[in-house]
Amino acid sequence: MGWSTNIHFGPYLEIVKKIATIEQVQSCTNMKCANHQDYVGGPFCSKCGSKVDMLSIENVEYPTLYELEDKFDIDEDLFYCPEYPDRILLPNGIAKNTTVIDSENYSAIEIGDINVKKILDDFRNDPEYAVAIKALKESGIVELKFGIVNCCS
Ligand SMILES: [Zn+2]
Repeated sequence: MGWSTNIHFGPYLEIVKKIATIEQVQSCTNMKCANHQDYVGGPFCSKCGSKVDMLSIENVEYPTLYELEDKFDIDEDLFYCPEYPDRILLPNGIAKNTTVIDSENYSAIEIGDINVKKILDDFRNDPEYAVAIKALKESGIVELKFGIVNCCS
């Protein structure tokens, strides 16, 4: 068993905008009660005695990869999200001109003369990724970036 750090060099996506999601929670209907918006079992609140009912609670958070896949109908094998950092989406079927370096294999990688704009254009236009990248970018929730991502796997 090992702990490895991977270094991804190339295009990646970053979740940059929070979105609101509505969650249904069985809770105390008394807005002044400490239990309000927390889960409460039974027909009446144990703290204040008010009626318990289903409440719609709005959460404004950064979406997860799973939520984005669901919302934009994206194939679940297209991207993966390392546990840390959790707002970075890496292309799974590593796109052309991308290198994944396992930090346990110590080596020097020459980067040399690269054309970042061309690499990003190739990635954006890759038939496997084009539709998903377009939808995600147009939503404003995700930005397409280029760089080095150091992540645990
Ligand atoms: Zn209550």
